[in-house]
Amino acid sequence: MNHPSQPLRDLSCADDYDPNSMPVEKAREVIARFLSPVTAVERVHVRAALGRVAARDVMSPFDVPAHDNSAMDGYAARHADLAVDGEVTLKIAGTAFAGAPYAATINAGEAVRIMTGGVVPVGADTIVMQEHVKADAGRVTIGGGHRKGQNLRHAGEDLKAGAAALLRGRRLRAAEVGLIASLGIPEIAVYRKLRVAFFSTGDELVSFGSALGEGQIYDSNRYTIHAMLERLGCEVLDMGVVRDDPALIETAFSQAAEAADVVITSGGVSVGEADFVKELLTKLGEVVFWKIAMKPGRPLAYGRVGGAHFFGLPGNPVSVMVTFYQFVREALLKLSGQDPVEAVPTFRVPCTSALKKASGRTEFQRGILTRGENGDWSVRVTGEQGSGILRSMSEANCFIILPTDQGNVAPGNFVEVEVMEGVV
Ligand code: AMP
Ligand code: MG
Repeated sequence: MNHPSQPLRDLSCADDYDPNSMPVEKAREVIARFLSPVTAVERVHVRAALGRVAARDVMSPFDVPAHDNSAMDGYAARHADLAVDGEVTLKIAGTAFAGAPYAATINAGEAVRIMTGGVVPVGADTIVMQEHVKADAGRVTIGGGHRKGQNLRHAGEDLKAGAAALLRGRRLRAAEVGLIASLGIPEIAVYRKLRVAFFSTGDELVSFGSALGEGQIYDSNRYTIHAMLERLGCEVLDMGVVRDDPALIETAFSQAAEAADVVITSGGVSVGEADFVKELLTKLGEVVFWKIAMKPGRPLAYGRVGGAHFFGLPGNPVSVMVTFYQFVREALLKLSGQDPVEAVPTFRVPCTSALKKASGRTEFQRGILTRGENGDWSVRVTGEQGSGILRSMSEANCFIILPTDQGNVAPGNFVEVEVMEGVV
């Protein structure tokens, strides 16, 4: 299990921050200080490696490419034989296809028909594209102006034998899976998956199969959290809905902390509900309750429960997703051993909607980025921005991030957007 290393309590004394108005950046910084990544390693087949994190540097066992080879379909020749101006006709001495090299040395006055990936025959130093020659009856006529070494890929130009093809901490995408396979490596050392336990709290929550009584709602947070964790490659432990009952919540926390590296809850951290949860978590670990200067997602609890990292997300469905993407995602990537974890890229585009924005907090409005007929991108807001309106997340393809000191936005003003694709 991974223990946050420093006591959080010391931090609240030593650091000059106000838990009732915690800036987004500051909260991220504090969280980052306590993260201790998984260290256990397992070996997986390269086919099962997608989304996992490399636990060792992967070294190339040989030069890549292993031989000088052709980058084109054409003819391998000796540059000394080619004309500077005018034409020269060479004898086609044989073929060098990918996987079937030309066995002999090229002599003066000879060329070898070569295909992309074919090993460059000994003696040849230049490849002439087939589009630039005339071939007929065992002879090839080549024009002037060819550069020595052209269209030739040199042995070791991608990677020298013993060099690192990728470094420990890299999350493996399709490109890395292919890269590892290209080195002839069938199995790779990865960190074990991060185990994340989560549950919803709330007396109003109902699960599938029951009709809704008055004031009841279906539990959606557990499903969005489950889906977001799956996207991050975590091992998920769904602990269900827990009633707002101190004894039940205590049991749930203890079981979750026992079973997982990270515990995530939704609901129960707002002002009205926080008191008994606060008391309980002080008993079980170390937790700070922040009111983040952001909308949506103001209340957030963070700390340690037993040996597990803990994130107490707000109850409102949009707040859950926003706080997850702004704080939890990055933390989970770091905890799973990924290094470095880059921030999700943002960029600035004109906003076609008028946006209301109070200063003094960061707002994450839900936006729709579209490309106009002139080819330029712009963003509009998804309509009502209430933190209970999950449809606003579903319709959106980006967050519109309005920083602390920003006021209202007029149509045409530029705003910062963060694309959700590949992230959410
Ligand atoms: P809370 O933070 O527990 O006061 O919850 C804030 C709002 O979010 C309330 O309207 C809750 O009904 C709603 N909520 C809490 N948990 C969930 C959940 N798991 N799924 C959907 N809505 C929820
Ligand atoms: Mg609640």
